[in-house]
Amino acid sequence: MVTNLTNLKNQLAEATAGYSGENLLKHLVEQFGDKIALATSFGAEDQVLTDMLCKISKSTVIFTLDTGRLPAETYEVMEATRKKYGIEIEILFPEHKKVEEMVNKYGPNLFYESIEKRKLCCRVRKIEPLKRKLSGLEAWICGLRAEQSVTRTELAKIELDNTFGLIKVCPLADWSTERVWDYIRKHDVPYNKLHDEGFPSIGCQPCSRAVKSGEDVRAGRWWWESPEHKECGLHSGEQKDKTKDNQK
Ligand code: SF4
Repeated sequence: MVTNLTNLKNQLAEATAGYSGENLLKHLVEQFGDKIALATSFGAEDQVLTDMLCKISKSTVIFTLDTGRLPAETYEVMEATRKKYGIEIEILFPEHKKVEEMVNKYGPNLFYESIEKRKLCCRVRKIEPLKRKLSGLEAWICGLRAEQSVTRTELAKIELDNTFGLIKVCPLADWSTERVWDYIRKHDVPYNKLHDEGFPSIGCQPCSRAVKSGEDVRAGRWWWESPEHKECGLHSGEQKDKTKDNQK
């Protein structure tokens, strides 16, 4: 299974070497059909991909994880995106019993108490719903970029996602921040207004804050933790192996 996936990843990477983001998406949508989907959290990169994807195929599923702790601005851009492109966005929720159990045991703001409790919250609210969704797919698309953080420096456009056992596609892996915003302005793409308030990376409301000039773009995510811990488990896959020395 892993060997097959590795071969598939290598074939895809070879066949699409040098492709632009749009051409890569087009190729993969044709190859995977309804077995590929875009995961969005409505950040700037995800909005670029949504715009590209809607111009290629409006039948490709776009889904998001509603953790129950998202900022109001994220729901606003979700709504603006639905309206602009005339699409449905599949919204996945955590299992309510697991959320109840966790919050009743540790309190609503458990994530500030330890890395373990923060990871538990991410697991219940994000990873488990994502896992359910990805189990029916062969490939997923996301807006990761290599320059976003120390945990993503070796990111490739086609990755083997060891965590969830499928292909992960990052069409904007080699894009700069400037290129993302040039695209948004040029194509009049709706974006999360928190970006205008100094949030380069937006997740759940209690775990995201604005960053200062010169800070890492993901410095505002789980800002109380050290940089090498700043992933929620959604994007550990192939990167995990590359960064394991840092995580000891
Ligand atoms: Fe919980 Fe924060 Fe993770 Fe959201 S980002 S799931 S609130 S720990």
